[in-house]
Amino acid sequence: MKRYILAAAAALILQGAFCQVDAKDQVSPAVALKMLQEGNNRYAAGEPTYPHQDATTRESLSSGQAPFAVVLSCVDSRVPPEIVFDRGLGDMLVIRTAGHVVDNAALGSIEFGVGVLKSPLLVVLGHESCGAVKASITAVDEQSPLPGAIQSLAEAIKPAVDKTRGTTGDRVAETIDANVQMVVEQLKKSEIIRTALENGSFKVVGGVYDLDTGEVHFHDH
Ligand SMILES: [Zn+2]
Repeated sequence: MKRYILAAAAALILQGAFCQVDAKDQVSPAVALKMLQEGNNRYAAGEPTYPHQDATTRESLSSGQAPFAVVLSCVDSRVPPEIVFDRGLGDMLVIRTAGHVVDNAALGSIEFGVGVLKSPLLVVLGHESCGAVKASITAVDEQSPLPGAIQSLAEAIKPAVDKTRGTTGDRVAETIDANVQMVVEQLKKSEIIRTALENGSFKVVGGVYDLDTGEVHFHDH
């Protein structure tokens, strides 16, 4: 009973602070993914339409938000999610860390998008030639720690680096893929994300952005 009251109180606080969204107001995961794919196609073709960047959209969003996707991406200046998916205000809740490493603040931000704003889609977006992954490969393989807190990134990416050691293929590309997959699996361990998956109408997908073509290649989903 006490636990129920605490949960109810927490929900009320979240509603008050963040305006909790009703899941039925959201699109399906398939539609959300299609919207991202179509936006990326426009961007890659050099024909962006810059949707939802106008004053009318801005004003309509002043009372609340219901982003159709949560995107966790790298901080790399060449991969801003709103630009590569050709989207605008209120469309995506974006969390960015180097190598899309998930610490507690990042996880809490993602859980806010999934659990409170009821986003139907969570995307983990890696990218070609990721400096965080490259530096992690060197730091781990040569056992030479990176300076300051940068080393924490290498430690987080280490399982992906270990996985691709000895490959005859493209080590960096394979580690980037492995890192995306690892983070997808890591996020699925969150109780809030697991509950959303069990309830249906929610999906987690990984993808990798190609710096040359501008295309995002989504993993199997
Ligand atoms: Zn990167």
